Amino acid sequence: MREKQSYHRVVILGGGESGIGAALLAAQKGYEVFVSDSAQLQATFRSELQGRAIDFEEGKHTESKILSADVIIKSPGLPPTVPILQAARKASIEIISEIEWASRFTTKTLIGITGTNGKTTTTSLIGHLLKSAGRSVAICGNIGRSFARAVTEEVPESTEIYVVEMSSFQLEDIDQLKANYAVLLNITPDHLDRYEGSFDEYAQAKLNLCRNADARSAVIYNADDVYLIEQIEKLGLVTKHLSFSIKTDAMGACIDGDDFKVYLDNKVYDKLPVSHLQIPGPHNQMNAMAALIIGKQLGLSGSELSAGLSSFQAVSHRMELVGTGVGLRFINDSKATNVASTLEALKSFDGPLVWIAGGIDKGNDYSKIAHLVKERVQTLVCLGEHVEQLEAAFKSHCQFLYAASMQEAVDLAVAEKGEAKVVLLSPACASFDLFRNYEDRGDQFREAVKKYSDAK
Ligand code: ADP
Repeated sequence: MREKQSYHRVVILGGGESGIGAALLAAQKGYEVFVSDSAQLQATFRSELQGRAIDFEEGKHTESKILSADVIIKSPGLPPTVPILQAARKASIEIISEIEWASRFTTKTLIGITGTNGKTTTTSLIGHLLKSAGRSVAICGNIGRSFARAVTEEVPESTEIYVVEMSSFQLEDIDQLKANYAVLLNITPDHLDRYEGSFDEYAQAKLNLCRNADARSAVIYNADDVYLIEQIEKLGLVTKHLSFSIKTDAMGACIDGDDFKVYLDNKVYDKLPVSHLQIPGPHNQMNAMAALIIGKQLGLSGSELSAGLSSFQAVSHRMELVGTGVGLRFINDSKATNVASTLEALKSFDGPLVWIAGGIDKGNDYSKIAHLVKERVQTLVCLGEHVEQLEAAFKSHCQFLYAASMQEAVDLAVAEKGEAKVVLLSPACASFDLFRNYEDRGDQFREAVKKYSDAK
């Protein structure tokens, strides 16, 4: 155990899934626990705390109850600038994140996955490959169930591997956390509102995942991301480096003709047909290579890798086929909330497309996708608040239409399909104007498509 015995009182700031997981783990380990959230807790979380007799407050932060902590566990939703954290820093109280806390109570294999885009897909695919090969796996972190909660449920003789999706917010305030396998998918601008416009600060938080890597661990990273390579080289890590690329002969995994080539070491490798991968696009080939490297390192055979790859289906709202009919395939990529992910979605289809986009623009630079839109998009149907930006960027490249609801957007897409064979929802924007969240947006798309779909 890496747990620090000297703690007595553990205070958790933020009572979402991370905070509650951290509280449950702390209570299980016998610490005095207090949870404080400046907003109201969700009813299920409140009753979990009550059920375990864990002390908490909501709608406020009482300084005296918080600054008496030996350690503070900060939920990812809290920006580092909130006054209570500043007061805690001033009082020299140790502040750590929930994933750091969780990692101190397990000695099982830890796979951490981060990046601007592709985390959930890659985490799910790694979990799927390992599970289909019969390994005992806990998939957790930013993907749903928190890492800390998963650790409270650890069965000593069973859970073999934690596959943990980690966001940049969760990677702030890491101290000893060491992933046996640290996967860095890509780093492009996102969430710059939280990092006050500092791309470097955002990137450094992601790189925390591999800072503690040592000779017995491995860093798995995207060799096509020039910025990422530079940053990893700068860290000068004495660890195993396994990179993946669709452009070069990277020595972790690469593309060789029609195959993925996945190395165990410099000489031994497996070859698997790229066509076995059911999720479209070069970005998903990158995600797949990261997952295959992990599978190979953990001893999966070529046929196990191949079986897992073939049976993996898209995670909902990520390039998910939600209907076919009226000569069209309808693709739900509602999770594309930034330009980099929409870029990958547009790259995944050659022919003319109807593209549905828009929502809340987090400061997008659309020039990065202008060439693809010009080349591949026949009609753009815009939804949501920040229509003017999209109109300004693309009006001269394709037919430009506006819809007030998802059903109207789909109806227009079908009516104006022309030569297109695909209707792609890939908004490049956040969803909080017309929809509750990206899942709601994707679900409404799925519903709206039903009347045109052969399978109803
Ligand atoms: P995350 O968990 O990092 O948000 P997801 O797997 O949920 O990543 O995918 C988010 C969006 O990014 C989807 O639109 C998906 O199609 C796209 N995407 C997935 N993998 C990549 C990648 N490697 N590079 C760029 N975009 C990607």
